[in-house]
This record gives sequence, structure tokens and C-alpha cells, in this order.
Amino acid sequence: MSGKVTITPYGGLGEIGMNCMLIETESSAILIDCGLMFSELDHFGVEFVIPNFANLLLKKDKIKAVFATHGHEDHIGALGFAVKAGIRAPIYASPFTALMVRERLKESGLDTQVELKTIHSGGTVEFGDLKVTTAQVNHSIVDAFALFIDTPIGKIVHTGDFKLDQTAFFGDVMEWDLFRKAASEGVLLLLSDSTNVEHDHLAQGEPSVAARLEELFHLAKGMIVVSLFSSNVGRMANIFKIATKMGKKIALTGRSMEQNVRLAHERGAIDLNTTNIISVDSIKDYDRNKVLLLSTGCQGEPRSALNRIANAEHNHVSLHESDLVILSSSQIPGNEKAISKLVNQLFQSGAEVLYDAVEEVHSTGHATRPELKKMIEMMKPKYFIPIHGEYRHLVHHANLAHETGIPEKNICVVQNGEVVELTPDSLQIVDKVEELRVMIEGRDGQDITKSILKDRRKLAEGGVVFCLMTRERDSGRILSKPQVMAKGLVSESFELWLIEEAHKVVERQIEEYKKDLKNNIHHDLAEKVRIELRRFFDRNIGRKPVVIPLIMEV
Ligand SMILES: [Zn+2]
Repeated sequence: MSGKVTITPYGGLGEIGMNCMLIETESSAILIDCGLMFSELDHFGVEFVIPNFANLLLKKDKIKAVFATHGHEDHIGALGFAVKAGIRAPIYASPFTALMVRERLKESGLDTQVELKTIHSGGTVEFGDLKVTTAQVNHSIVDAFALFIDTPIGKIVHTGDFKLDQTAFFGDVMEWDLFRKAASEGVLLLLSDSTNVEHDHLAQGEPSVAARLEELFHLAKGMIVVSLFSSNVGRMANIFKIATKMGKKIALTGRSMEQNVRLAHERGAIDLNTTNIISVDSIKDYDRNKVLLLSTGCQGEPRSALNRIANAEHNHVSLHESDLVILSSSQIPGNEKAISKLVNQLFQSGAEVLYDAVEEVHSTGHATRPELKKMIEMMKPKYFIPIHGEYRHLVHHANLAHETGIPEKNICVVQNGEVVELTPDSLQIVDKVEELRVMIEGRDGQDITKSILKDRRKLAEGGVVFCLMTRERDSGRILSKPQVMAKGLVSESFELWLIEEAHKVVERQIEEYKKDLKNNIHHDLAEKVRIELRRFFDRNIGRKPVVIPLIMEV
């Protein structure tokens, strides 16, 4: 065998989120996943980050297909932006993932711009010299796929997000036969999920989470509120079953919760015909202990349904002392503070609150160390690249692969933007792509450029000062006293004195300007005022605010 394959991660390696990877031969390429990453909650208006598609547009004609491994936002959340940017290769996805992608594209009016193809586990598609086979894996969402990619130089296995829970609901257990078959054909490169490499214990299966939830539901005296990822359809289906068995009515709150329940019904994972769903505004019409409410917001998102409930701002739901709130979810790194604030707020309502740290009400969707080891042992790859993780996860996973028998020289820790060249006899980083990400201000929002972000940071950290002056256009004379206004600088009492002194600074500059005007010397009054005011504030309050001098010409 000869030739080479290049692999470029545009996101997801060195961070949890924004997964996006290009695999290309000389003539064809496929894109695996196209996700977004939520920004830290108070990041100057940046809501999330997506890959910079300018890089991928250069290869637009070569990209034959986009594969979405599963329906989590960090895998499909940026697909609409990719289509908008001009990437029009057909999107292949499992039945449930395709439903989720369909909704996203419809919402953005892009559903007619790109072909969306549903593919089942074990399905194979060929694109030039690439052949892709899908294989179901178990994860915290139904219909998750791993991909087997046959290239002219050998087979690449991309695990997607996976765990080895063999007890999962809705038949979404791993397709071992497909994995065994791939392994028997020989695997040149394994790309494997690193998220939980730091955890040694085997995660509990979904049935034990369901059993614990059932016990807790029986102990509850009032209304039960369960908050979980709205894409966790398997767990949702279990909750629906338990609630129905207990004769409870189920209400839903949160847009994505309502949408995903509808999609799960369409997929056949949930049967709404046998479930007692009631509208959230009719909860008051039922006995409190007969109601189970499923809510979004388990990550403490400020505008989510659960946050509104916790802060007594929800239109139809309030908490009573006898109620039970369960956060059946993990904490996504970066959201810890927001979740902690939410839990405290929920406790203040008087309700009982249970969460991952105090009760076994959640099971991870990612393989832990023993499972990751098993994957490597099973696939016996010649080369190994850890994917889907922060940098430390990638390093730990690389070490695990080495311990499992892969020679060090055959393992490569790769970060976003690094272009990896794979041949039958080598694996190495050969290049680097720069400017990998674009910041976005809301789902249909605009890009936030680096300079906008810089301005916002300066405004937030230093405050802003306006200085208004009026000048006669023909003579250049300053006609009135300058006006200085400030926002976000200091407390009001101190501000009065400060602004008065600032006026004096500006007036001195105007005097200088007048002299220069008389002597016909060029004088940039606005710039001088800007510089002097910044110096003045730096001296007096130790900060340089954004100063905006405005000269009105009349
Ligand atoms: Zn996932």
C-alpha cells in the first residue's frame, strides 16, 4: 500500500465541545461532526463558538459528505452555520440524529439548501476512494454512531462518543459484530473518545439509574421535577414509563424538551399515545403529587426553564416545600458555578433537591478507563490518536494506549488545527491551520470579531467616558463649554468630583487648541482630549476607560 491520508481536527481536541474533523485523501474528503461550544456564561455576549468555515471552504469541492455521529450540540450545533457558509455536501446521520438536524436546518430556513440522508447502523456509503460504514454505539443519546472509514491505505475507526453499557434502553447498545468485523480486517488508525479517561470505575447502567429514580419518585410527597439533557431520550423514556406506571401526569417545560420529546415519538423511542402528557399551564388543575415535570436547564443556563422556576419567575410553575427536584445530569466543565448557584436557589425554595454528587441519579455517556482500554484491545490499531477531550485527557488517553501495547511512536497527541499525515508506515503532524474559531452572539446571531470582543472587554473593565464639544465649521472656534459624561467608572458621589476635574482637563486642551488655531498650527483636538482624559483617569482611579471625544460641527 502507498499513499497518504490527512486528518485535521478543526475543533474538539484540547477542549470539550465544537467537534469537527476533516479526513481527506488525494481526491476526496469527509467531514466528521460539526459542533458548537457554549461559551462561559458571562463572556461579553459571546453565546457560543463554532469552527471557522473559511478554512474548510477552501476544500469545499473535495468534501463529499458530512457525517454527524450523534445529535449532541457539540457534534451537530454548527451544521447550519456550515451550510450558510457554503458547505453543501450531503449530511449523513442516524435516524434520531437526522431528525434533530432536520429541525435545526428548518429553523434556519436551510432545509432546502442541503441534502440530509438518514443512514442505519451497518450502512455503507462510498465517496470516491473513501468508504464509510456506520456502527451503533451506546451513549447518552439514542442512535449514536462510530464510523469505520476505509481509505486506500487502510481502515480508520472513529469511535464517536461512546460507552460500553450493554443494558441500555431502546436497543442502542454497541454493535459488537461490526466492531469485531472491522478489527478482523485490520485497523490502521483508531480515533477514540477521551472524555472520561480520568475515571477508573465502570459507570452504572441506565437501568440502575431508572431503578433509583423510581425509588425516589415513590418517596416524593409533592410534585416531582426532573431536569436532564433534553437529548437524553433513553432516560426520558424510562422516566415516562415509571411515571405512567405510578399514574402520574407528565408536563414538559423548555423549548428543546418539548421538541425532543416530539422527535423521540417520531423516532419510536417514546410513545406519546400511552403517556399522560398535560400542558404545563394546567399543572395547577391536578393534585401536586400526581404531577411529574420534565425541565430543561440542568446546566444552570440563565434563561432556562429550571432557572426561572428556581427564581420564582416561571409563568406556570412554582415550587412548594414538599416538592422534589432531581438534576439527572452531569456538570459540563465550565458550568460548575452556574449549577451551584441554581442548586442553592432551588434549596431556598424549600424543596428537596437531589443531584449527581449526593444521589446516583445520573450515569455518564462516556467510556471510562477500563472501557477505553477494552476498545483499544479490541480494535488492535497500528496507530492511535485520542480525540474528544481537554488536552490533559488526550495525554492520559495516549498513555493508556501505550500501556495497552501501542508503541509510543505510533501514538500522536493532536490539537485543534494540527494537520496529521497518516501513511501505512507513519503518523506525524505536518502542518497547522490558524484562526480556527468564530464567536457567535446567539443562534441566528452574528459573528463577533476579535476587535468587537476587545472593545467589549475594554468597556466592561474600564467604563466609558464621552466628551462632547461644538465647533464652528468655518472658523474652527469652539462654541460652547465641553460636556463630559461617564458610565461605569466610580460611585456616584466620587463621580461628581471626577467629572468636574475632567472638565478642567478638557478646557485646558481647548485653550491649547485656541492658541494653535491663532498661530495656524494644526491641532487634533479630539485625539489630544482622548489621550489627556485617559491619563487623567489613570492617575485618579488607576484605570483607563474608553474615551470617546465627539466634536459637533455647526
Ligand atoms: Zn455526545
